[in-house]
Amino acid sequence: MDKKLTPLELARQTLIQLSKSQSSPTPENYRRVYDEIAGIKSVDSVDVLGKSLEKVLTELGKDRPKYLATSQKIATFIKKRDAENLEDQLRKLMPTSANEADGVNWPTLLRYLLKQLDVNHTGTTLSRKKEGLNRVIINFANDPSQLGEKIQALITSWGDGQPSASTNSATALQAESTLIVEVASATQTNAALTESEQALTTAWRDLLTRAIKLVVLPQFADIPAASDKIENVIQLAQKANTVEEINALGETLKSFILRAEMRNDAQHRMQESLVQMLRLLISSMGELTIEDKWLHGQISIVQDIISKPLDIDAVYNAESSLKELIYKQSNIKPGLIAAKETLKGMMSSFVSGLADISRSTGTYQAKINQYQVQISETEDITQLNTILQNLVGDIREMNADAQNSHNAFEETQKKVEEAEKQINELSAKLDYISEVAHQDFLTGALNRRGMDEAIDREFERADRHNTPISLAMIDIDHFKKINDTMGHSTGDTALAHLAKVVKSILRSTDVLARYGGEEFVILLPGSKQNDAVNVVAGIQRDLTKNFFLHNNERVLITFSAGVAERVTGENIDSVLPRADAALYIAKQSGRNRVVGAEIPTS
Ligand code: GH3
Ligand code: MG
Ligand code: MG
Repeated sequence: MDKKLTPLELARQTLIQLSKSQSSPTPENYRRVYDEIAGIKSVDSVDVLGKSLEKVLTELGKDRPKYLATSQKIATFIKKRDAENLEDQLRKLMPTSANEADGVNWPTLLRYLLKQLDVNHTGTTLSRKKEGLNRVIINFANDPSQLGEKIQALITSWGDGQPSASTNSATALQAESTLIVEVASATQTNAALTESEQALTTAWRDLLTRAIKLVVLPQFADIPAASDKIENVIQLAQKANTVEEINALGETLKSFILRAEMRNDAQHRMQESLVQMLRLLISSMGELTIEDKWLHGQISIVQDIISKPLDIDAVYNAESSLKELIYKQSNIKPGLIAAKETLKGMMSSFVSGLADISRSTGTYQAKINQYQVQISETEDITQLNTILQNLVGDIREMNADAQNSHNAFEETQKKVEEAEKQINELSAKLDYISEVAHQDFLTGALNRRGMDEAIDREFERADRHNTPISLAMIDIDHFKKINDTMGHSTGDTALAHLAKVVKSILRSTDVLARYGGEEFVILLPGSKQNDAVNVVAGIQRDLTKNFFLHNNERVLITFSAGVAERVTGENIDSVLPRADAALYIAKQSGRNRVVGAEIPTS
């Protein structure tokens, strides 16, 4: 065909050809003859569409076998040009309203699943249900429609979806709903965890609850209220599932652990006090007379205390008894000094005795002179004989006197030396006792050494737990006047009275130390500055009720105080001056008041 035919002519020629060859006028035959006449290769759009559809379905079939089967069927129907069946197959690919998204109504199914997980089914448990569910999810993860069907089948297998007989009763249903409420958050949270994460969480939870039961709880066995609270913490630990719950649990535990540590510390200090007390007792015993009934009484008190379960108050009482003992011991020192004086007196009386002897020697000298006169004047041999006999007698007597005096002198000298030796030994012993003691004898407060140790210990603890700590510096008002008007020893008793009142107000974890003279330091672990100011003001109020009695007369003791809260990491050399500066302001502004310190600038 040289001449190019118009489309109309081409169609006419094609139909003529079809009728000549007696072929049926199907679209395929028409296209084939048309292509021959026109000399072209026209595109079969049905074929192209069919191929595209097949390609897409084959790809989908990799994840979901259902599409693979459909794609093969569609390819066959396209080839056969079987429009009716093709349409049928295509329709099956479409989601219907009742069978949304792969034939599974997921919201309904998940709600149903959650409910059935919580329902008690005879013959299975919650953990078995979860195991089965996990297996289904792993096996059918890539086929949502199958997954839905399998989950449905699984639920049915838990007793055909029916709850166990007992759960049908009203009470059981109520119990079940409580259970659902209790585990609701757990189920929601746990649903997001994998099996291994779940196992790990359970293991940690068990470990924590066991640690609280075995380590924290026994520390508070003697405080029922605290034990109950810890039991509560254990129950919370068994249930806690959200981060907020676990954080709250952590805070409660932290405060219990801090309290436990402080109690342990107090016990440790109690043991130290005991050891120190025994040391003091032993070193005191040797110096005191064994016959002393009072000493035996004190020793039996201490023995009694040691034989019973330890209690900090009993130990403190024993310690104060021992302090009396030590006082008695310290009285030995002036006693021995008096002994020394006595011996010195003995020496001087001996010397005067010597003078007497020399005077008597003088008498003898005179006698001898007399004898000499008598001897020279006497003519009477028998008289001379008598004179000589008298003279010899007198000389003998004089010699004996001299010998006696010499012996007495040596003996006295020995006694003085012994007494001096004993005095030196006792002085050394007393020095040792005051060195090892951490407490001030007069007031029972810690001494400077004890205070330094307490500050180190409490500052370190505050750093470790990131807890506040405050320090108060106290100075008695017009104390000189008390000394001047009532005497120094009444001043001493007033100091002891003040310390007693302060101790009765403070918590067992607070520390009272005698800083020097009539100045005291109070350490208040765990207290912020304002709280510490309130505690010290409380002591001031108490002092107005707890009078100090002097000769049955009430004497009001007041004090001024400066309180400083330690900033994190602050050194005692910085905290003390701040408290001292506040104390200065308290004095300046009229005394008998408590002033909080300025916060350090850097
Ligand atoms: P202020 O209100 O300014 O503090 O007046 P004050 O009289 O208390 O003055 P200051 O604090 O300077 O004086 C302390 C006095 O306390 C001096 C001293 O005689 C007396 N003192 C110090 N230690 C003792 C002690 O152990 N026993 C007795 N009885 N008095 C002491
Ligand atoms: Mg002072
Ligand atoms: Mg003072």
